[in-house]
Amino acid sequence: MNINSSLSHRSREPENSVLYIVGTPIGNLDDISLRALHILKNVAFIACEDTRQTKKLISKFGISNKLISFHQHNSINKIPFIVDSLKEQKSVALVSDAGMPSICDPGENLIQKVRENNIDVICIPGPCAAITALVSSGFKSSSFIFLGFLPKKKKERDEILLKISNFDKTTILYESPHRFKKLLVELKIFCGGNREIQVFRELTKKYEEQIGITIDMVINHFENKNIIGEITIVINGINKNKTSEINEYTLKKDLNELIDAGLTLSAASSYLAKKKNIKKNLIYNLY
Ligand code: SAM
Repeated sequence: MNINSSLSHRSREPENSVLYIVGTPIGNLDDISLRALHILKNVAFIACEDTRQTKKLISKFGISNKLISFHQHNSINKIPFIVDSLKEQKSVALVSDAGMPSICDPGENLIQKVRENNIDVICIPGPCAAITALVSSGFKSSSFIFLGFLPKKKKERDEILLKISNFDKTTILYESPHRFKKLLVELKIFCGGNREIQVFRELTKKYEEQIGITIDMVINHFENKNIIGEITIVINGINKNKTSEINEYTLKKDLNELIDAGLTLSAASSYLAKKKNIKKNLIYNLY
């Protein structure tokens, strides 16, 4: 089969016994694809996170297919139902409220179960906030780390923040608006205020906003503002060869340990300067 014939094959009617993972807009409804609409119109039913949200989307395009709710809390009951429907030759579409299902959204465990049952899965790709923000950031985008929402427990959160501070690859995070300022402060503590980041608010929507380019500048920008809307954060990786991007948090930690062990500030700074090949006064001034 050549590439063209396989493409045209995939754009026809939904096939029986196939789970279609359908990407939907992350704000601007015009970002839905023709293929997504065709599938949503013609599958036996659509499994969606919030039926009201999906109803709004499909109604805008004149579609009135059957919707069933599928989310984190009912997935135990709904997965067997969906798998059985697929086994009965039905075609099913899976959507989330916005973006790609199963990216910090329901779907992962359903897709896993469907595959375990040797049922076909076909993805109709659509927008994803992480990828939209990444490619707009200007940071390296061919190799990156996506972490979604950070854990809430302090110990786990601090561990991952420490890792982020040392990553040399671009890192992408999701955060809710009411926790965003706290995250900025944490990023400053762990990565230093000079670390490059780009914050994307309300991507593809009317009040879309992009703020950078250091953590300090972003903190300043949001200082007296109420945060509303959806936010994706892209953090530039450190350049391990550049002195100015040496991780301040790790250096401070090492410096404190040496001082606690009995070294003077000057001796500890000299020791670390030699070990890490950094100017002594840079370390001295951190204290
Ligand atoms: N499945 C979605 C995707 O493919 O991007 C992500 C769903 S996750 C539950 C929701 C988070 O994605 C938001 O809290 C925010 O961090 C990010 N997000 C979603 N839409 C966004 C937008 N329009 N602008 C910025 N970030 C967005």
